[in-house]
This record gives sequence, structure tokens and C-alpha cells, in this order.
Amino acid sequence: MNRTDPPVPTPPPGPPAPQHRRLARSSAIPRQERRFAGIPVSAGVAIGPVFGTSEPEPVIARHKIHAADIAAESARLDVAIAQSRKQLGKLRGRLTLLPEDSQAEIAPLIDVYTRMLGSSRLMRGVRQRIEGTLVSAETAVIEEADAIAAAIMAQAAPDSSAEDRASLRRRGDEVHEIARRLVRNLTRAPFRSFAGLPEGAVLISEELRPADAALLNPSRVAGVATEEGGADGHTAVMLRALGLPAVLGVAGLTQAMRPGDMAIVDGIAGTVTLHPSAESLASARRAVTAFARERQRFARLRRLPAETEDKEPVELQANLELPIELPLIVQSGAVGIGLLRSEFLFMNRETPPDEATQTESYRAIVEAMHGDPVTIRALDWGGEKEIEALANAGYVPDTIDANPALGLRGIRLLLREPELFETQLAAILRAAVAGPVRILLPMVTNLSEVRAAREIYERVIRRLRRRGERIPEKPPPLGIMIETPGAALSADALALEADFFAIGTNDLTAYTLAVDRGDADVATLYDPTHPAVLRLIQFATEAALRMRMPVSVCGEMAANPLLTPLLLGIGLRSFSMSASSVPRVKQVVRGVEIDACVRLARSVMDQSDAARIRDLLTTFASERG
Ligand code: PEP
Ligand code: MG
Repeated sequence: MNRTDPPVPTPPPGPPAPQHRRLARSSAIPRQERRFAGIPVSAGVAIGPVFGTSEPEPVIARHKIHAADIAAESARLDVAIAQSRKQLGKLRGRLTLLPEDSQAEIAPLIDVYTRMLGSSRLMRGVRQRIEGTLVSAETAVIEEADAIAAAIMAQAAPDSSAEDRASLRRRGDEVHEIARRLVRNLTRAPFRSFAGLPEGAVLISEELRPADAALLNPSRVAGVATEEGGADGHTAVMLRALGLPAVLGVAGLTQAMRPGDMAIVDGIAGTVTLHPSAESLASARRAVTAFARERQRFARLRRLPAETEDKEPVELQANLELPIELPLIVQSGAVGIGLLRSEFLFMNRETPPDEATQTESYRAIVEAMHGDPVTIRALDWGGEKEIEALANAGYVPDTIDANPALGLRGIRLLLREPELFETQLAAILRAAVAGPVRILLPMVTNLSEVRAAREIYERVIRRLRRRGERIPEKPPPLGIMIETPGAALSADALALEADFFAIGTNDLTAYTLAVDRGDADVATLYDPTHPAVLRLIQFATEAALRMRMPVSVCGEMAANPLLTPLLLGIGLRSFSMSASSVPRVKQVVRGVEIDACVRLARSVMDQSDAARIRDLLTTFASERG
């Protein structure tokens, strides 16, 4: 295996090993080197045989419904059909990025799938089964697809040729393929099919959800490449957290690869090379060595203080998305956890974790930090963060909103479901006896949300005291994420209600520029150096500083060393980022003076053009080597 990272412990065992579906393959594609460009999201270079993620044969409890539920079940089916159409439409749109011969091969297949979602035999049969036999939509889809595929195979005459049989099998496979997509959209089940990946494999798939990424074992997988996804989406965040070299948004990849093909994933250059030539392989091996050397150099920075040349102390903390990262955080030289994304606790399970389970998880993390502070963010459900357990428990709808990023997200869900919120607050309070903790509220947009959350927080404190639970005498501070333009522009008022701010530049960029952060099609528009985003960060920072209130940045901007001098110049002194980014940012911090950063920030904030801003930042960085 050609991984560039230190070994990390094995995560808890996943679901049973799956069979790997052979991805659509084309015998017409020559086995010569092909290079694909995408979005580099996690540094490092991986070399290995490729394997596709595939959902295992869906294990759906074939459940019955009541006659009164037929309409609701049909509506679920309609949502899944619409979503499947949208996915196929996107795939088709992106084919234009491929060479013509590949387009000619793939486009008809996508057309077949799309037609099957219309008034096809499959869809008619599915609807009849829902109504006539009173079964759930997913049960109907599976049963009807099986029946059609069997009918197709039955057309084979006893003396039909192998070629004819293969052609019938292909038609059956197409029906199953579209059925799988529908079931995946109906159940929102993660792929859960990584346990059987061969060691050292490069994982290639159309799409990888954050919950799927959470199941990857970084000591077995060499690298990841997908067709969908953007630089700061949650899947990218997870892959960085796992230290897996990764490139997302690579059009045409799944159709071009065959399981077992050799590939290079270059998470620095943002390329994926299939069937690399001897030269490309040699150059990739050199890159692997260079990256490992850089890691060693950075390791030496670990014990040096994070302070500027003129001795201004700067707080560098780590973001934690999975407990598997704890050893990396300790090695990185980060002082504490500035953002614990608690979503991992709720992912890939049937029901939400209870108070005791959550308390144990938080306590283990707080203890592992040996007295360094830990900021635990309350559950941030919504947007791309789909969590089955919440739908199963009835907390969130199990159909997908038309516009989930603008819907029931973060604090909105927590206030609507106080039981969910109270359970988590109680667990955090109980874990807080093990070390310094802060509590962070996600997706705040207005004052009343903070007031309501504080009321609930105080109620939980009183209840735990009555119950005789041990919690800190001085309860942990209650802070808020500044990650919507509304919150940033209300920062002066919010500063009166909150105990601290954490600026979430990922969502702030997405909402300010109206760009889905995980969407490869609009990735070029997602730009944290857009002057509008920078002005919001400056406005919120200054509001906090006027109140002498702690303020930090915990979005991906904090991890970008090019932006560190600018953020220091704006007045920020606390940054939280993926553990692997800490040394690089520390190196920059140690090489700058605050005065120079302030001058840089002034000239940047005068600009109205993001390209000019990037020039200024690059020049500043190159002048300091
Ligand atoms: C952010 O939005 O910048 C952030 C840190 O939160 P998340 O990435 O988890 O949405
Ligand atoms: Mg966010």
C-alpha cells in the first residue's frame, strides 16, 4: 500500500462484507494511461488498484402498509423518482467533459435509466404492487425489478447463444441498477460496503455520502475519488479527517474504470490517473516520498509554540469528526478541539444514542485531551448531513425537502425536538467534569434561537442537579456558530446573548454565494476569498472583539495557510482545523508579524475582486518563502 500517513487504529467493525458490484465496463476503452481532473480535497498521493463502492443487495424488510398509507407511500416513491432523475440528469450534463467516444458509450445507458423512471413497465408495476398488495415503496421496487429481470431471462430459448444470454442479462442488470438507485433514494441508506475492500485499494464511486465516508478504514483504503462532491462538503471534510488522499468532482471516472485497474490519486494536484505509464508511476512514487518527508519536517514543529515572529500567541486547535482522529490530533500539536462535530455519534445506527452512550463518548474524548479544551457542537442535522437514525425515530421527515440547506437544520431541529437537544446537553454537561468543555450551537440565524437554547440549557442544568448528577459548578460556556450571513450581520446583537463565536466559513461561503458546497458543478463559484465572505467574517470578528468575547474560525478557511496572515490581520487569534493542517498553519504563524498581517488585511479588504485578493495573498506568502 502506498499511503503517506501514519497508521491509525481500526474503527469499530462495520456491517458484513459485501460483494463488490462490477462497475459498468467498456471493452472499447483502451488500457492506456488516462488522466482525469477533479477537485483536490485531501492532500497526499495514493497508488493502488481501484475498486468501486457498491451498495450491497438491499436488505429491506419486506413490510406491509395499511390502505390509508397508499397515498403517502406513492408520494415517497415520487420523491425518490424525482431525485433519481435529478442525479441522472447531472450525470448526463457532466458527460460533455468526456471524450466523444466515451460520451457515445455512456449517454445511451443513462437514457435507458431515465426512460425507466417514466411511464415504464417497472414504474407501473411498482405502483400496482403498492396499491394492490399493500407493500412499502422499496419492497414494491425490489419485487417488481426481480420479476421483470426474471421475465427477461425467461425469454432465452434453450438453444440461445451465450451472446444472446449475455444481452438478456444486461437488460436485467439495467432494471436492477435503476431499482437500486430508487431504493437508495427511498431508504437513504449509506453504501456500507467497504468492509470487504482489499487492502491498499483506491476507492472510486459516483458519490460518497458523509455517513459512508465515516465507515472507511484509513488503514486499509489508499485513496478516494468520486464523480460528485466539492472541496468543502462534509464528505471532503471527513476524508481530510481520515487523512485519505482524495479527489472529488471527477467527471467520467466510474465509467472509465474497471475493478482492479491501477490508479494514482493525487490529492494535491487534483488528478486521477488510470493505467499509469511507468513514468507516471515513478513520478507518483517520488511524490509519495516527498509528502512523507514533509510530514516528518512538520512533526518537528509539534513542540514549538504557535506564536508569530513578534510573539503574539495564536490558538491552533483541531476539528474532530470521528473518534479515530484522536491520536492524529494529539500528534499534530493542536491544543484542544475547537470543533467536535457530534454528528458521527448519530450516523450509521438505527436509533439516536441515549444520554449514557453520548456521555461516555464525550467523556472519552475530553479525557483524551488531557486538560486541553474541547468545544462540542450540538447536533447539526440537515443539508447534506442525512442521518437515518433521526428519521427512524421520527425526529425528521423521511422524505427529502426540496431545499434541505434552507430547511430544518441545526438549531432549528434542536429547538423543535427539545428531547433530542436536552439529551445531548445533559450528556455534554456530565462529560464536562472530565475537563474544560464549551458547547456550540449550529446554524443560528437569530437572537430568539440563542435565548430559547439557553433556557433549555438552564433547565437541563437544574434537572441534572436535582437528579444528583455530577456536573461542573460553573457550567460550560454556550457559544454559537456564525455560519449564515444573517448571523454574521447580527453579530453585534448576538454577542450580547452568546458566550463565544465560532465562525463556520464553509456554510458562510455557501449561503453568502448561494453555492452548494458539495456540488461539483458549481465548485468554481465556491470561493471563501470572495470579498462578500471576507467582509462578513470581518464584521463578526470585530463585533466579538468589541465585546472582548472569544472568537475563532473553524471552517476550512482556518486550514488554508494562504489565508492565515489575512485572518490574523483581521484580528482573529484562534483557529480550528483538520489535525493534518495544524503544522502547515503553525509554520505560517511562526513566520509572520502581526503588523504586516494588518497591512495585508487592509489592502485585501479594499478589493472588490476575488482574483486580485488571491494575488495579494499569494504575493504575501511568496515574499515570506
Ligand atoms: C462550517 O460550516 O464552516 C462548519 C465548520 O460547520 P460544518 O462544516 O460542519 O457545516
Ligand atoms: Mg456548518
